[in-house]
Amino acid sequence: MSVMKTLKKNKVVRSTSSSLNGQNLNPYEVARTQLKQTCDILGINDGTYEMLAKPRRSLVVSVPVKMDDGSLKVFDGYRVQHSTTRGPAKGGIRYHPDVTFDEVKALAMWMTWKCAVVGLPYGGGKGGIRCDPKKMSRGEVERMTRRFVSEILPVIGPYRDIPAPDVNTDAQVMAWIMDTYSTNQGYPVHGVVTGKPLQLGGSLGREAATSRGLFFNMLFALQVLGKPLAGLRIAIQGFGNVGYWFARIAKDADFKIVTASTSGGGIYNPKGLDPEKLQTYYKKNRTLEGCKEGDRISNQELLEVDCDVLAPCALENQITASNAGKVKAFLVVEGANGPTTPDADVILDKKGATVIPDILANSGGVTVSYFEWVQSLQEYFWSEREVNIKLRDIMENAFNAVHQTSQKRKINFRKSAYVVAVSKVLEAHKLRGLNP
Ligand code: GLU
Repeated sequence: MSVMKTLKKNKVVRSTSSSLNGQNLNPYEVARTQLKQTCDILGINDGTYEMLAKPRRSLVVSVPVKMDDGSLKVFDGYRVQHSTTRGPAKGGIRYHPDVTFDEVKALAMWMTWKCAVVGLPYGGGKGGIRCDPKKMSRGEVERMTRRFVSEILPVIGPYRDIPAPDVNTDAQVMAWIMDTYSTNQGYPVHGVVTGKPLQLGGSLGREAATSRGLFFNMLFALQVLGKPLAGLRIAIQGFGNVGYWFARIAKDADFKIVTASTSGGGIYNPKGLDPEKLQTYYKKNRTLEGCKEGDRISNQELLEVDCDVLAPCALENQITASNAGKVKAFLVVEGANGPTTPDADVILDKKGATVIPDILANSGGVTVSYFEWVQSLQEYFWSEREVNIKLRDIMENAFNAVHQTSQKRKINFRKSAYVVAVSKVLEAHKLRGLNP
């Protein structure tokens, strides 16, 4: 079946308000399609493909929460361990109204490839709760988090599955996870979660790590493409942790940020935006809508804006067959997971645009999560300089390996990153063997 047919067959309904431009595609089918394409390149048989396509273990839970008004609400929660072949499962926890079981399965699979492509000793996992944290009080979010952790307690742990932040979760949420897990064990367990506050065994540099890694990947890509750095214009979609830090790091390096956005829309200023001013506005209003630093722009228009680099840093399925042809950027660096659909990839390829795929481009976050885990297990902490130097080394080695494979096999960066990642997971699987 063609890529398009497979995807169309598996459409799911997502709410349009919070999913930005989200085309109604099932992210799990997108992830399976990307894996299938890789298996075809590597000549991997159908049985092995099925084994790699399905998560090893999934836990679906109901999370009852006492709301501030005294009512009881029950949320759907998920923790999926896609693979534990190369090490414990690793991956974030997301709070969003569009979370589905299939989305979490896709995100868990992407974590497996992400950890493999950069060579971290982890498998892949992900968790999520279908909820709207923007409409909840901090107390409600805390109670929901603690109850969720109690439900998934048997499957997480520093050597089993280590959660981290993802969309709408932060260091405070990680602190509640660490505390709930630790009180159940009877002693503090710092290694059960990453992205923690510094006072609880967090790592210097973790907060900005995804964006710093994204920035390094952008620089490496510009270098191999032979593009000058001066005057480079970057369009960013999203203004969560990844979008904000990427804007800040790029602006500090004298690049021009021409857009930023939140779920309801964004702003555009061809003369350049100041991330600090946007952050001040965002902190006050929880949105960039109405911000006077630039002209109002929809999330759809943002992707098609005149720029050199496009950094989707929000949700899945943003660059699709319907808008890929209008993307002006010559380079797309994926700060989000799954922002580009497989059919959009084909169009971007034909146009000659280069895409640095999510599993490589945004791997800086989980890389510094790995550093944090190592520091937490050893109770011995590193300087921020050390963290950033080690991060750069890992990003550079991973980028070079993907670039070399792409040149050798004459395939794009996404296919090449998948070839590198899937080969590593399969090699580990062969060494361990199927048992029992
Ligand atoms: N949620 C982040 C990601 O998608 C970080 C995961 C982690 O640090 O474990 O890569």
